[in-house]
Amino acid sequence: MTIFSKIIAGEIPSYKVAEDDAYYAFLDINPVAKGHVLVVPKKEEDYLFDLDDGTLAGIALFSKRVATAIRKAIPCKRVGVTVIGLEVPHAHIHLIPITKEADMLFTHAKKKFEPEEFKAIAAAIAENFE
Ligand code: 5GP
Repeated sequence: MTIFSKIIAGEIPSYKVAEDDAYYAFLDINPVAKGHVLVVPKKEEDYLFDLDDGTLAGIALFSKRVATAIRKAIPCKRVGVTVIGLEVPHAHIHLIPITKEADMLFTHAKKKFEPEEFKAIAAAIAENFE
């Protein structure tokens, strides 16, 4: 079981922003920007492009809804999208609010937030999720 499957199952806590039958979205614990969200399929698959076509299409549409909510909740120009992961063997899409390209750099120092701040950010995004 991957760490993300444990998060989906509620065995490891997360700051959830959205969920449906097939996907789960939560705050990245080491965010490169305020409102950095990970979207994962509930079905465990290591590599995004190994997902079956339906799940791959579905995660794009689910991410669109999450990105729309992020953009309403977090001041930004756009929500950037990246799939970069080599760390966790469970496909995940990074959604990152940006005002400039450099806001998406994973080589930058990660942002630090207190649990209360993470909670408030997740709640603000969740409130705008439709
Ligand atoms: P990647 O595989 O995309 O390089 O990195 C995995 C991402 O998942 C990282 O941005 C990391 O901060 C995040 N991450 C790893 N473990 C956890 C966790 O237990 N909880 C949360 N919320 N995020 C995690």
